[in-house]
Amino acid sequence: MQHEAVQLLSQYLKIDTTNPPGNELEGTAFFAEIFKKEGIGYTLYESDKGRASISARISGNGNEEPLILLNHIDVVPAEKDKWHFDPFGGDVRDGFVHGRGALDMKGQGIMELLAFLSFKRNRKVPNRDLIFLAVADEENGGAYGVDFLLKNHSGDFSAGLVLNEGGFGVNNLLPDRPLFLISAAEKATNWIKISAQGPPGHGSVPQENNALERLIRALNRLQQMDNPIIINEVTAEYFKRLADAWDFLKPYQADGKAETLIKCLMESGLAEVPQISATLRNTISANVISAGSSVNVIPSYAEVKLDVRLLPGQEPDEFMARVEKQLGDDDLVATFINKGYALASPVFTPEFEVIEAVFRRRFPEAIIAPSVLFATSDSRFFRKKGITSYGVFPVLVSMEDVQMVHGIDEKISEDNLILGTEIYTEIVEKLCDL
Ligand SMILES: [Zn+2]
Repeated sequence: MQHEAVQLLSQYLKIDTTNPPGNELEGTAFFAEIFKKEGIGYTLYESDKGRASISARISGNGNEEPLILLNHIDVVPAEKDKWHFDPFGGDVRDGFVHGRGALDMKGQGIMELLAFLSFKRNRKVPNRDLIFLAVADEENGGAYGVDFLLKNHSGDFSAGLVLNEGGFGVNNLLPDRPLFLISAAEKATNWIKISAQGPPGHGSVPQENNALERLIRALNRLQQMDNPIIINEVTAEYFKRLADAWDFLKPYQADGKAETLIKCLMESGLAEVPQISATLRNTISANVISAGSSVNVIPSYAEVKLDVRLLPGQEPDEFMARVEKQLGDDDLVATFINKGYALASPVFTPEFEVIEAVFRRRFPEAIIAPSVLFATSDSRFFRKKGITSYGVFPVLVSMEDVQMVHGIDEKISEDNLILGTEIYTEIVEKLCDL
């Protein structure tokens, strides 16, 4: 007999919710069917044709503010010809459930669903309203998902706490012990366009004002920009806990000073590991450049698009002013394609302790730490409304497995799915009985 989580995830993965176009309406139908069967009322929110989110609520005794179990229905595209199985086949074999979304984040959606249903099935009254919320459009900015919901139906989603994606457990980063990350913050996406103009001309007579060459010179200067390490509450606590596994962090664990931490990170080389560096610094990546169309014509226009990611609490306008100064060319035009400001959720809360205690009981040897997600998630919309939001995904995977997220051959082991469902259920039960 297959575990219910395995059965449900296999069905859910068969629904192609590739965004774009999303087609999350079919995903909401999957959940609606289950809620009908379980006798739970639900609300459907249609934001556009084929785009929809669904929520269901189990009423509690109101002692605490509601708890939202948030997950997204959409998935990123899968390059089918590179996969070794059908990304929308929902195959269950060799101990794995296979398909796009298994990890990001239909697997967690099923864990949340089963944790939610357990209250109804066991006739337990939570001490707060428990809201299951599966949304559209997370992978493409959230305009048809959480952003739409909070703009148009905010009254339905006032809450004290949101559990969402963003955390996970890694089994091969630390020697002999797992590391569980609970994400409490994320970076803000800011895309910047820089353009240059200059006189066109024949390519046989080079000009100093060649728009493309000016842009390249400015980009070279931008690459030299100093993006110093910035320690916030989340990273401060993260490294304090990691010091239990990494001795070179011991001096910081002893004195708790940010400058000691920075010294430890620099001297050990850890600060230059790209994934670590991204959680410590504002980053710039030049990803799209365009100019010219003929090899013998000097282009009159050139532009580059930069993917800028700012740490929580960083002001986009201040960062832009630094970028402009570093470009060192007043004739270049720098504009935001989009602008974002990120907030961190507090780390020292009773809720965080509850989540941590559940992990601790299952994995006594593990290091459990708050983390900064360097990508973005829907949590940012809730944090902006002042609602604490944590990324909790109780699975234990390898660093290599993490590559499957947005990559090829995405799958989740049945063991992870089943254990994750148990842990998730326990976390929700404890959070509803504070
Ligand atoms: Zn996701």
